[in-house]
Amino acid sequence: MSSLENQVGEIGARLTEAELCPADLLAGQEAAFARDIARLHERSGEFVAVDCPACGGAASALAFEKYGFAFRSCAACKTIYMSPRPSPAVMSDYYSNSENYAYWAAHIFPASETSRREKIHKPWLERVTGICDRHGIARGTLLEIGPGFGTFAALATQSGRFERVIAVEPTPEMAAACRARGVQVIERRIEDISAAELSAADVIVSFEVIEHLFDPKDLVRQAARLLKPGGLLVLSCPNGLGFDICMLGAGSQAIDAEHVNLFNPQSLGGLLEVSGFAVLETTTPGRLDTEIVRDAALAGAVSLDPFMRRVLIEEWDRLGWPFQQFIAANGLSSHLWIAARRL
Ligand SMILES: [Zn+2]
Repeated sequence: MSSLENQVGEIGARLTEAELCPADLLAGQEAAFARDIARLHERSGEFVAVDCPACGGAASALAFEKYGFAFRSCAACKTIYMSPRPSPAVMSDYYSNSENYAYWAAHIFPASETSRREKIHKPWLERVTGICDRHGIARGTLLEIGPGFGTFAALATQSGRFERVIAVEPTPEMAAACRARGVQVIERRIEDISAAELSAADVIVSFEVIEHLFDPKDLVRQAARLLKPGGLLVLSCPNGLGFDICMLGAGSQAIDAEHVNLFNPQSLGGLLEVSGFAVLETTTPGRLDTEIVRDAALAGAVSLDPFMRRVLIEEWDRLGWPFQQFIAANGLSSHLWIAARRL
């Protein structure tokens, strides 16, 4: 099983939510998201009940409901997952017509790309490079699955740290955004790419994608198919057992209509191990848990016991960031990274 590493230095500089999403744009996004959710509910008759997407276990208990969707907790591996969930066809339609994504693309992303590049994607590139070098993975071909607008892939391309960087993005607008940033794109679904046309990848990365998928095992299988033996898969996603999700439950922003799989370090590691991977590193390099819980407490959305009140409110300036570093270093943040080698 994977080991949780103490790597405080790797989480990088302090980060605030406002740097990632200007507050004046939030209201517009929330309204767009509410319309997306209403559209999902219109097709609730096509939702599908599923077993645990990590371990396949059938035993579960209702964890909470949010926006009218039920989230269950797996009795075996503690993964939190939406069930019933939108069918693959409903999900595909949802993302194609999402007003939330259109709003994000038109307003929030342009206003925050520079900040995201510096504060998020640069540390990601450092982290991926570090994993490669620690484990002797060749920095040949890097494939990114689900690159969005291509900020990370562009940085990786420009850095020269990999011989070749390729983004796999079937959505035309996103593929165009990647190309505009100088990224080589394969504009198809990953399952439609043959291993023969692509010399096998040394490294595959996929950030904040697997939590959205109807069947996350598909992504892992496709990665195994396109990686060289010994190649590296790096995934990031929310940690369903992390601090902000544990403290806020359904009130956490990580619990929404799109995040249908909330793995934890052990359950995602288990999924990789039964899919032909050996886990190399599992880390939770999050930087926002404490600020998110503090903001919820200040807004009256959660009540804190005296100890947490002292850390997150009364002595925030002194204790907030060291406490976040403790959470991140000990596998307790709600932001999860896992690196695994294809056997
Ligand atoms: Zn499970």
